[in-house]
Amino acid sequence: MLDGPPAPSRTLRDVSSLVAAGLITSEDAPSLARVGGRYAIAVTPTVAGLIDPSDPADPIAAQYLPHTEELVTRPDEAADPTGDGPHSPVRGVVHRYPDRALLMPTLACAVYCRFCFRRDRVGPEGGTLTEAELDAALSYISATPAIREVILTGGDPLILSVRRLASLLRRLAAIPHVETVRVHSRVPLVEPARVTDALALALTAGPPLWLLLHINHARELHSAALGALDRLRCRGIPLLAQTVLLAGVNDSPEALETLFRALIRARVKPHYLHLLDPAPGTARFRVPLARAQALHAGLRGRLPGHAIPTLVLDIPGGFGKVEANTPRLSPSPDGGFVVIDQNGKAHALPPSVAAATESG
Ligand SMILES: *Cc1c(COP(=O)(O)O)cnc(C)c1O
Repeated sequence: MLDGPPAPSRTLRDVSSLVAAGLITSEDAPSLARVGGRYAIAVTPTVAGLIDPSDPADPIAAQYLPHTEELVTRPDEAADPTGDGPHSPVRGVVHRYPDRALLMPTLACAVYCRFCFRRDRVGPEGGTLTEAELDAALSYISATPAIREVILTGGDPLILSVRRLASLLRRLAAIPHVETVRVHSRVPLVEPARVTDALALALTAGPPLWLLLHINHARELHSAALGALDRLRCRGIPLLAQTVLLAGVNDSPEALETLFRALIRARVKPHYLHLLDPAPGTARFRVPLARAQALHAGLRGRLPGHAIPTLVLDIPGGFGKVEANTPRLSPSPDGGFVVIDQNGKAHALPPSVAAATESG
């Protein structure tokens, strides 16, 4: 913490603890308590320590501290914006693309993001699969040979005990068609002490595993987080990052450049830059699509190619993800293409390029 009371020793889970920690004012407490009654709150000591309470525009506070606007649901906001429901064959599994399925062993997280697209389902109570439900989920995966990758998400799978994680990964390893596993997590950033060497070792108990870190601001990559990432990397776990483009957190060329440079210094590949899914009460985080495209296109001139994530949009209603960067290549009437360079200048590509593209 940069100012005010010392960082708390345990996770703050309600509005009164946030007031006591000096993160919100007592005047705001009554209205924010209503937010807390509707959507889960959790701010770990690490996250509390990253917040500057004297900065009303703090990009860490914006992600985790409740806000009265969360009580306002806009007409285009939906409890299940990515349309997972119809693709869930058994509790805890979402299977939309034939080759990969989400497995959510728990819907609890170490922290609760105010823009979460599963905010109507995540929380400390509920959502952790019972042994019988986990058996049913694994039976579904085992009986579906098209599934070649299992994506552990939630919730945050890294809040499970080392023993449970290792056991789950060993059970996945016993399914011959499951070739790889991906884990989506914020734990290395928000509760780095949980990423012990024992946990990193447990993550090697199953099929080859990739870790996708959810990170939205360079300040989340503090020294303890770098230590946690090193422990994972020492066990040979490849690290990728996904970022949500969020108004007031990272919607400027400078914020994005600083974040992606920090990630490549930490040897983490920026993988996806997501447009916000319209979950209830998240309108204050929206970035208009055209602005998102312009911000993303502008990264090309500022950063090395491997530091630039793919801009993706989850089409509302359950139609899946699409790449959402500005179409820079469009067919021209002569059978060739027109390509737009970083400076907005158009160049004609001859029909031979189109022919070569089609045949190979
Ligand atoms: C995002 C998502 C995936 C993973 O997609 P990738 O592009 O491979 O990261 C898989 N299943 C569902 C339902 C998803 O929403």
